[in-house]
Amino acid sequence: MTTGVLALQGGFGAHLAALGAAGVEVRTAAELGQVDALVLPGGESTVQARLIERGGLRQALEQFVRSGKPVLATCAGLILCARYGWLDVSVQRNAYGRQVDSFEAMDDSGTRRLVFIRAPRIERVGGGVEVLATLKGEPVLVRQRNVTGACFHPELGSP
Ligand code: GLN
Repeated sequence: MTTGVLALQGGFGAHLAALGAAGVEVRTAAELGQVDALVLPGGESTVQARLIERGGLRQALEQFVRSGKPVLATCAGLILCARYGWLDVSVQRNAYGRQVDSFEAMDDSGTRRLVFIRAPRIERVGGGVEVLATLKGEPVLVRQRNVTGACFHPELGSP
């Protein structure tokens, strides 16, 4: 199984490092066609959206998401999923406070150490969305069918 990491902008390198030989960079629709799963990394969602539109990738990504293949979206990737309707959630960008740019915290179950970097806050989850992890009662890891979205950076946390 090959996992593609959308490599237009942002933190795709850390995902590729975590994936090792199983990971490949994806920049085109043709490359997307070669992978079995996809990571939408963190970064700057406004820049990523512009590059997706400019590169004509929006439709190919949409098809990939609808195909049911696994998608992991972190941070800016989660923002894109909300924006494009790939996850039925509403997010507020940079909502964990400007003065606290980055922080680490244990999730409410006490089992995951989470790394947040100018993270979006999930303000609403739709009916079909499962909440997999929370921080102080707020959802930080969610799943809808094949799409999993994280406010934090699993690729940077301890395993
Ligand atoms: N603040 C970024 C945005 O709004 C997301 C930050 C991140 O991906 N770590 O797109």
